Amino acid sequence: MTRIHQTGNQIVNRKCRREDLSGTNSISLYIHIPFCLRKCRYCDFLSAARPREEQEKYVRALIREIQSQLECPSGTPADTVFFGGGTPSILSGEQIGRIMEALRERFDILPHAEISLEMNPRTADAEKILEFKKAGINRLSMGVQSMHDEELRLLGRIHTVREAKEAFDAARAAGFDNINIDLMSALPGQSFESWAESLRLAAEWKPEHISAYSLIIEPGTPFCDLYEAGKLAPLPDEETDRKMYHYTREFLARHGYARYEISNYALPGRECRHNSGYWTGHPYLGLGAGAASYVNGTRFSNIADINSYTEALSQPVRTDVRTLTEEEKMEEFMFLGLRMTAGVSAAVFQERFGRTLEEVYGSLIRRHIAQGLLEETEEGFCLTEKGTDVSNYVMSDYLL
Ligand code: SF4
Repeated sequence: MTRIHQTGNQIVNRKCRREDLSGTNSISLYIHIPFCLRKCRYCDFLSAARPREEQEKYVRALIREIQSQLECPSGTPADTVFFGGGTPSILSGEQIGRIMEALRERFDILPHAEISLEMNPRTADAEKILEFKKAGINRLSMGVQSMHDEELRLLGRIHTVREAKEAFDAARAAGFDNINIDLMSALPGQSFESWAESLRLAAEWKPEHISAYSLIIEPGTPFCDLYEAGKLAPLPDEETDRKMYHYTREFLARHGYARYEISNYALPGRECRHNSGYWTGHPYLGLGAGAASYVNGTRFSNIADINSYTEALSQPVRTDVRTLTEEEKMEEFMFLGLRMTAGVSAAVFQERFGRTLEEVYGSLIRRHIAQGLLEETEEGFCLTEKGTDVSNYVMSDYLL
């Protein structure tokens, strides 16, 4: 599962002003399915192994939330829907179909909408994948992570490379023409050659999109305990990690995949519209336990406890409700926009905030250009290759 997803018991009962940071007039919908067959050893996402009956209760609670949500009026246009997790493909096609039906009743899911579902290869056979298609899913995002079984075992993944390929082929046979593959580099003990081989095989499958993230050892995970106890093979050093990153960009470019975000690569026109929305400030409504939202300039999250969420009779408890200040919106515009290869646009900044980029960030931008971290584009500025290597440092400078 990629890092982009959704990582006060107050109800924001206002009309969805569907013109937000992005300046567009529709919303993105994120649906969180917090179940997995088994927890991977590196994972800190909100997910757990739960029996089928509990999954069904959760689906009913999710449908209740969709029907009773008050943030957006009925008929709000939705241009992307993303089932993330967890493992959404653990649900049956019929359950995904019911959730889609509830969404269609409440929102105007636009005819060209991108409707993605994250899939663990072990959880969906050809029949189920076909049911997902019939339910309206038109993009699959497969957690493959590695093309080496021993690396998959180390990560605690429940599938083999062969099973991943079978699921990929079944998706193609079902008619899916928009598939992402998640890969993970910088694994304990991983050599550069092993990563290069994973990339080579992934490109042979010819997915439309590849997400390539470096492993992060998150606190509280089994990997973290092993790491701290010195029981994990050494992680690739900084130099190897950077070599892997640069090779990924160069290798995938040779195979037709352009990098459009720090860790995301796509064939022309196959960039993930849902995730691009997060990076460009498009409003999104998160439904399900722990799902985060950004609507009308306000951020909030649903209660992250699966049982409490399932037992809610209508709207779930909301936490972390916060209306962003103008300064925070500008900060987000910069540090999310700079993640994108296209960078940030000076004209869009002025249109949204009524102030020029020069006025707010002029001296910082000049310093970053002098340091070789930023470069000018026709529309504004983007990270250079050097800036991308230290992107966290560069982006943190834009906090006002
Ligand atoms: S399948 Fe994804 S969400 Fe589930 S435990 Fe593994 S990494 Fe986490």
